Amino acid sequence: MQEKGLLIVLSGPSGVGKGTVRKEIFSQPDTSFEYSVSATTRKPREGEVDGVDYFFKTREAFEEMIENDQLLEYAEFVGNYYGTPVDYVRKTLDEGKDVFLEIEVQGAGQVRKKFPEGLFIFLAPPSLSELENRITIRGTETAELIQCRMKAARDELEMMELYDYVVENDQVELACERVKSIVVAEHCRRERV
Ligand code: 5GP
Repeated sequence: MQEKGLLIVLSGPSGVGKGTVRKEIFSQPDTSFEYSVSATTRKPREGEVDGVDYFFKTREAFEEMIENDQLLEYAEFVGNYYGTPVDYVRKTLDEGKDVFLEIEVQGAGQVRKKFPEGLFIFLAPPSLSELENRITIRGTETAELIQCRMKAARDELEMMELYDYVVENDQVELACERVKSIVVAEHCRRERV
């Protein structure tokens, strides 16, 4: 029988650079896992393509996916829904391919319950003050909002212990190397006879 693929979940606090690390991983030609494209109700940003970056949905269409049990997990983040279409994940794992999710921490908690055998990697900032710097440098938030996001980040950092591995995002290339090495090591660990 075909061995199932590995479900790899990369999560971590908002602002830590999950998206950047994920894009770097998938820009490398030797990356062998499949990216699960999420559904969202957020509006596309410039250059984003439907079906590639996200499946862009109306709120009604997204809520219909929830009702029809078409999502492995979902969460509301800054006023928009984000979720993982379940069919693609199951089909791809059944084909023996590894599937990679890049999602926020609430959703990762839901996946942990449904797929306890998944590989859960927490991307952490080098320090809380560094995270605050990164959010401040973006320049998109007021001082009050920054404090609000920092409180959320502190709560999210407490979830770290529920993960199999913690990868520090001090440098994007290094973080990618670590994530890919963990996947290789995990296969060796699981496939020994
Ligand atoms: P952005 O709007 O910047 O693309 O993403 C916002 C947040 O949503 C990021 O933390 C990203 O990891 C998370 N996210 C993207 N797709 C999903 C998903 O399918 N499920 C969940 N729970 N979070 C997601």
